[in-house]
Amino acid sequence: MLSIFVEVSCGRYLKDECTFCHVYEPLMQMPKSDWHLTPEQAQIMADKIRQVEVLNTLAQHEINLTGGEASQNPDIVDIFKIFKTVTPNVCLHTNLDIKSEETKRWQRLVDIMKQGGRIDITVYPTVWEERQKPLLREIIALQNKLMINIVFESITDLEKQLGLMAAFFEQMDRNFPEVLELLRSYHEKVRYLAENNPDCDEAIYTTHMGNMDSFTRSGDFIFGINLLPAFGMDEQGRRAMASNPFPKNPYLLECVAARGSIEIMTVQQNGNLTPCCDVGNLKCLPNFGNLFENTAAEIEAQFETSRRIIEAGIGKNRANLKGDQAGQWMEEGIPPYCV
Ligand code: SF4
Repeated sequence: MLSIFVEVSCGRYLKDECTFCHVYEPLMQMPKSDWHLTPEQAQIMADKIRQVEVLNTLAQHEINLTGGEASQNPDIVDIFKIFKTVTPNVCLHTNLDIKSEETKRWQRLVDIMKQGGRIDITVYPTVWEERQKPLLREIIALQNKLMINIVFESITDLEKQLGLMAAFFEQMDRNFPEVLELLRSYHEKVRYLAENNPDCDEAIYTTHMGNMDSFTRSGDFIFGINLLPAFGMDEQGRRAMASNPFPKNPYLLECVAARGSIEIMTVQQNGNLTPCCDVGNLKCLPNFGNLFENTAAEIEAQFETSRRIIEAGIGKNRANLKGDQAGQWMEEGIPPYCV
């Protein structure tokens, strides 16, 4: 998958409702004049993606338009159409914190869905009842796929959000038995932990959850769910070693790029590439090229050079984690939780 940042602003920053926003600090470093990716910039990105084999391959799997809040980009429908010329699989991630069906933001999402784009959401309990729930019903009427992200601060928070999702699908007019079954099984498992061991560590949580499916299908409707722990940031805007729900243990990231495989590439709005789901808060130093500044050949050549630096850095991280230097940044500039 290629994850492309298309917008810096997000109304939720202003309301300060996201206790730990992991994109605010890195995105706010962009000058206000550059907050919206333009169709012209999107065209340059699209042309370059076609020329770099590894990027084109990832794009055929999926291009995910994100931000900030992608629906706040006034040109998002044109940008969507440009990326649709690269791949049929373009989706857009939204906070769905939208006041009504009359808003421009909602109309943009409808336009995108009508042209075959998929809209995915992150659940926000503070605006769920009033804003997200009615519009999610409309989304499900307009598209036959949905991916829901649940970002959780604690086991109790996760239990609450899964409960909202299970209740939502229970109340739908249309039947989604398999989706409901999946959500109920997630909810039951997490409820047990919330009642019996809400402060468990990550190993207990992972073992308890087991190998649960993330996707299911009800008729022609495909549903996916992603449970993502929230993170705090240090004063330099870098992700913390441990996640908020599991503060006792370092939350490690296994770097597949260091092993020579690129499964996901994030494209920042300034064109910078990172071969993982970095939103700018991982601060990984090795350079994987820039879609605006580098030729396709330069980008391809940079991959191997940077892979070797990461390989060296994660070797040092592993040694530090075994000793008493966990969390130490080394000269390679690899986040200390990457292994
Ligand atoms: S080492 Fe860099 S590229 Fe690899 S997972 Fe960590 S931040 Fe991402």
